[in-house]
Amino acid sequence: MKKAVLAITAVLFFCSWNLHAEMSDEVQVPVEEAFSACDIMGSYLGGDLRSPILPAYDDSDVCNEKVFDYGKTSPLKITDKRVEILIAVNMDDYPGALCRDIKKIIELSDKYWLHPKTNLSFAITGILYGRLGKYDADKDNSRYGKINIYDKFISDYLREHPDKIPDYVVYFLGDEISVMHGGHAGGVYLQPEVGGVAVIPGGRIDLTHIYGQCGYDDAGKNIISNVSIGGECKNKPGTPCVKKNGVQICVTMARSFMTSDIFIMQAITVVHELMHVFGGARTHFDDPNCAQVMGEEYDSVMAKPIDGPFDSRFQEYAGICPYVFEKLRTTYGVDQ
Ligand SMILES: [Zn+2]
Repeated sequence: MKKAVLAITAVLFFCSWNLHAEMSDEVQVPVEEAFSACDIMGSYLGGDLRSPILPAYDDSDVCNEKVFDYGKTSPLKITDKRVEILIAVNMDDYPGALCRDIKKIIELSDKYWLHPKTNLSFAITGILYGRLGKYDADKDNSRYGKINIYDKFISDYLREHPDKIPDYVVYFLGDEISVMHGGHAGGVYLQPEVGGVAVIPGGRIDLTHIYGQCGYDDAGKNIISNVSIGGECKNKPGTPCVKKNGVQICVTMARSFMTSDIFIMQAITVVHELMHVFGGARTHFDDPNCAQVMGEEYDSVMAKPIDGPFDSRFQEYAGICPYVFEKLRTTYGVDQ
């Protein structure tokens, strides 16, 4: 059974943005240093940090004879207006990942979307650093009754901290879809003995995705041109590139809200995938289902002035149909 059970293939919006770039050289720091810079309680270092070579992936070690009940998805419990979020980072995909950058992403998600639209806030319950090897699709196969190396990493932590089952897991992992599109929804499968649930709702996000990337090579690592190449700049090759926030982006996107901070893309994705977790797969802003479900309310929302620094209604609602935010707010009784 494939991971898509949690239903959400939910390939992120903005599909024309492609590839990622490694974090620039100046933010590359040793793993130990990145970890020690993190002062969030509950941070946890997994894998073997002293050796870059992980033990071979042992199938028998992570499987359990019990068949999973995939229906046992952890519900959003959300107490005290807090959406508890656990973060996992594969340091082999992102060796320069800094705690402060990760915290910044969540702060941006809160500031621009979650808090203004729902009156809830994210609360980080832990940041887990793992050395899981460069992303490997072969190790990402959750077969029936077994979990993969990426899920196991989180399972191991939660077995030791059973009181820390979060509402939502954000996994910074460079899989094919996150690298291509910026992120996608993906539940985390737990070993059955952990916490009494089988799946924790989650999102997988590319930590180094550049919105409006311009003039980069195929790997997205090196600047090789001062004009866009291939599908960059919404498939308009030859568009001039400009420098902003330490990266090279399309001149046509230089004034977009989406390029106002290097991590806006990651921040909007964190919220986008959370809203899928709550609302389901068919909750995109531009899904015909959106206007249908909202009825007259749809026109009245669309008629309002765009709130905040956004360029579009789509950005304002992180690509999700507005009723999902409203429903989240009323479900958890945070109207007042
Ligand atoms: Zn989506």
